[in-house]
Amino acid sequence: MSSSNQKPPSRNPDDYIIATLGSHSALQILKGARDEGMRNLTICKRGKERPYKSFPVADEIVLVDDWKEWDDDFEKKLMERNAILIPHGSFISYLGHERVKRMKAMYYGTKEILEWESDRSMERQWLEQSQLRLPRVFEKPEDIDRPVIIKFHGAGGGFGYFVVKSPEQFYEVKNRKYPDEHDFVIQEYIIGAPLYIHYFYSPLTKELEIMSMDKRYESNADSIGRIRAEDQLAANIHTSYTIVGNMPVVVRESLLPDLFEMGERVVEVSKSLCGKGLFGPFCLEAIITRKLEIFVFEISARIVAGTNPFIEGSPYTALKYREPMSTGRRLVRDIKEAIVAGRLEEVLG
Ligand code: AMP
Repeated sequence: MSSSNQKPPSRNPDDYIIATLGSHSALQILKGARDEGMRNLTICKRGKERPYKSFPVADEIVLVDDWKEWDDDFEKKLMERNAILIPHGSFISYLGHERVKRMKAMYYGTKEILEWESDRSMERQWLEQSQLRLPRVFEKPEDIDRPVIIKFHGAGGGFGYFVVKSPEQFYEVKNRKYPDEHDFVIQEYIIGAPLYIHYFYSPLTKELEIMSMDKRYESNADSIGRIRAEDQLAANIHTSYTIVGNMPVVVRESLLPDLFEMGERVVEVSKSLCGKGLFGPFCLEAIITRKLEIFVFEISARIVAGTNPFIEGSPYTALKYREPMSTGRRLVRDIKEAIVAGRLEEVLG
């Protein structure tokens, strides 16, 4: 059936289909739809469909040769089937912000928040207003007086970050490896334990939940410690942060009150930034120092791949739910409850 302007939207979840792009956290989202009894479909680039065939969680696989095929006609077909699109990291990077903004098909989440997330200065403003502790940012390379991490704009998955501790070192690495890159941020390097906190905020229940937490498995940052310090120096290795996978973490319980409050402030402030504000899954990326100070260096305003180890739920969701609850399943449940309550509009961006 198709959604028309005259008829009120159907309150039957069977009339809708959960759709996402085949990458990132798609397996989790598709399984989540299955577990909630909703139909699903995944859109895959030809040649990348093997996991979606091998792991039997997709009801339907739509193949494209190129993401450019995603035009108004393509979208129209999705709309005719009442598809609700679930964004994830690869979803946005494959289709681009502009396409996502123009999208007329139903889309779970707030589109405007993507702008706040992807623009580093807007993101900082949001996090500062939320009274989070942030790493210092240096205006220009000449100001570097301590270890800093250099992040190029649009560097996907930590690829191309590097750490230096002086202006000279900065120019040495920059000119040698990235002579044509001029869009970067210089951030104080915080020594501590990285922690990625996965939240979920439902606009229906108005409740903030902590779903799970992870740390990343990065190359070569996670392998440098496997060789002696003198060998590291001899090999002249520059630390890199290319993400390879994710590992589950459970945080010391005494930090939980702070983590809840941080998430709540981020949601609260987002309501003053744009329309419906931030809802659904999001992640605060933090480093916790030995003095237990929590520095937040980034926010992801959507499902993160770090939720993937928790397809069968996490220790936190085990405390709250009677059934295995992944973030993918939680967001499909939000959609389903919204459909049944006639409040679908509230979870669409
Ligand atoms: P990102 O791609 O921003 O999530 O970060 C990639 C990697 O860089 C992660 O291992 C982070 O822990 C690390 N990282 C990013 N920013 C900082 C920072 N300000 N201080 C220390 N490590 C950082």
